[in-house]
Amino acid sequence: MNRTLHSIVRPEILAMTSYPVADASGLIKLDAMENPYPLPSALAAQLGERLAAVALNRYPSPRPAALLDKLRVKMKVPAGFDVLLGNGSDELISIVSLALAKPGATALAPVPAFVMYELSARFAQLGFIGVPLAADFGLDLSAMLAAIERHKPAVIYLAYPNNPTGNLFDDKAIEQVIAAARGSLVVIDEAYFPFAQRSWMSRLPEFDNVVVMRTVSKLGLAGIRLGYLAGSPDWIAELDKVRPPYNVNVLTQATAEFLLDHLDVLDEQAAVLRAERDRLIAAIDALPGTQTFPSAANFVLTRVPDAPSVFETLLTKRVLVKNVSKMHPQLANCLRLTVGTPEENAQMLAALAVALQA
Ligand code: PMP
Repeated sequence: MNRTLHSIVRPEILAMTSYPVADASGLIKLDAMENPYPLPSALAAQLGERLAAVALNRYPSPRPAALLDKLRVKMKVPAGFDVLLGNGSDELISIVSLALAKPGATALAPVPAFVMYELSARFAQLGFIGVPLAADFGLDLSAMLAAIERHKPAVIYLAYPNNPTGNLFDDKAIEQVIAAARGSLVVIDEAYFPFAQRSWMSRLPEFDNVVVMRTVSKLGLAGIRLGYLAGSPDWIAELDKVRPPYNVNVLTQATAEFLLDHLDVLDEQAAVLRAERDRLIAAIDALPGTQTFPSAANFVLTRVPDAPSVFETLLTKRVLVKNVSKMHPQLANCLRLTVGTPEENAQMLAALAVALQA
């Protein structure tokens, strides 16, 4: 045993395991909410030319003006609001945690939720308060309001739509949470915006304690790692202080800037995936023994009689999904299936039908 290591590293870190990423080689990868479509080859070739001209010998700009301006326009950030870029929204969540960490401070989220809200809070030594969702996965408003009153969290995360449940929380309930959370920063996480097409972005000017976070990951650019957070300049200025100096690399910046001019291509892919999602929900629901939940995202949550065995049978058919059963008691026997191409979805459905009969 390494005594030095064990005496220095916090016990809760020692007890953890690293974020699990499954090896998907040779599998139909439906576990991580990626867009299954690559860039069309003509566009990829043009991008390649752009990237060849990028200076790799210089550090990236922390405030790349052209990219920020394009993002503001294309993503309809309200006038007078600012944008912070992150190495994925994962990094933006860490930045929020770091900026708000102080002794006794807490982060709060309805659970089950995206796991990084809790992990990132714990890394920064913020307490984490998880408020269970209602049985239909909507917000349990009275429990949320009571928890806010009791814990006075520094930050509240609301994923809109939520991962892993897929639903959009009720707008009126969110308004009440924001109103009750006068002493908290409310982060509305719109990672799945391309599939929900509903947003709080235009409502930012109504509140002084709300920021909206998004990512390009689900839109088809998971590999470039770019998240952005829109908020009033005073919030962005404080968060920016704990951002690592050169967090978004030059290739990511150049790729994002180029593709913001070709958003129609990614939007079309998202439209195909939205239609596939709705088809998939109906098709899974028609399989005996499944209970499928509504989704405004690019994944479908379904309950099966025995999730570990269905997961394993799917793997033997080369289909990788996410078994979220152990994440939270409300997800018992639930699998989360990312929407793939029609061919991938057909293979997944055929494998699922077999798995359910096994
Ligand atoms: N928020 C939510 C709700 C998510 O589901 C995810 C990814 N699974 C993220 C944020 C992180 O996205 P990224 O770091 O790729 O931007």
